[in-house]
Amino acid sequence: MIQEMGKLYIVATPIGNLADITFRAIETLKSVDLIAAEDTRHVRMLLQHYGISNKVIALHQHNEDKAASEIVEKLRSGLSIALVSDAGTPLISDPGMPVVKAVHEANLTVVPIVGACALIAALSAAGVAITPFTFEGFTPRTSSARQTFFVERSAISTTWIFYESCHRILDCLQDMTAVLPPERSIVIARELTKLHETIVKLPLAEMLTLVETDANMRRGEFVVIVEGAVKIDVSENTIAPEQERILKLLLTECSVKKAVELTVEITGGKKKPIYQAALALSNTNTVLN
Ligand code: SAM
Repeated sequence: MIQEMGKLYIVATPIGNLADITFRAIETLKSVDLIAAEDTRHVRMLLQHYGISNKVIALHQHNEDKAASEIVEKLRSGLSIALVSDAGTPLISDPGMPVVKAVHEANLTVVPIVGACALIAALSAAGVAITPFTFEGFTPRTSSARQTFFVERSAISTTWIFYESCHRILDCLQDMTAVLPPERSIVIARELTKLHETIVKLPLAEMLTLVETDANMRRGEFVVIVEGAVKIDVSENTIAPEQERILKLLLTECSVKKAVELTVEITGGKKKPIYQAALALSNTNTVLN
């Protein structure tokens, strides 16, 4: 008799409101042989809520590679496994990638059981241009790395979106304010699906003031959406205000040559006018000490 292989189910769980789970997710969690969870205690609360008493094994960042081969072996032996994270869709800024890759490489089946995802919930309610958008996960941890991250994205003309924690939301907005234009539209979607759900769209400068002055705006979990920059016309032989702003910022940190190279790379502009502007800026000493 040929042994039937098990399947790996990627099961989305709620991002706050426990009612945000599908019938199919509950059925899957009930029917699999094992549940692989980012935090076994956390998932037990959810399972208890739905009267599910299945066996749970740990799958976190630190044991993912080892767990991947063990999960492949278990699937080969015919067991079916559900993978869940602490909240939302697994693998979206959550563990699971090595497991899913290993299961594909073993020619076994991966089945997504769809459901909540904070970035999709935020985008669906934000009222900003969606296609295309770029999801960035979490921003870098240090202020200087974050500012570089924002500078690199400042000329992108499409929407970008990232996750942020309550510990860093204020620092993050301050770093954005240091390098992005004050009128750039920002959406903060906090505590989605929960009691204090808040979705606010404001120009960056006003958003910073709001988060500085309202302590509630520094509590909970955050999705931040940034509307794209107004497109720069690269056919013109002149330098656009956004290019000049980026160039000025880079000139405070780099040589003229490097600042020009990076501005061309970031904005896609023409080298000659950017180079001339860089020379003018450094000669007039407006940005260099
Ligand atoms: N896998 C999850 C998903 O599908 O959205 C994301 C997990 S990631 C480790 C956690 C981050 O997602 C939080 O720090 C926050 O930025 C965002 N997030 C999760 N739940 C949220 C909620 N209810 N409201 C706003 N942001 C949320």
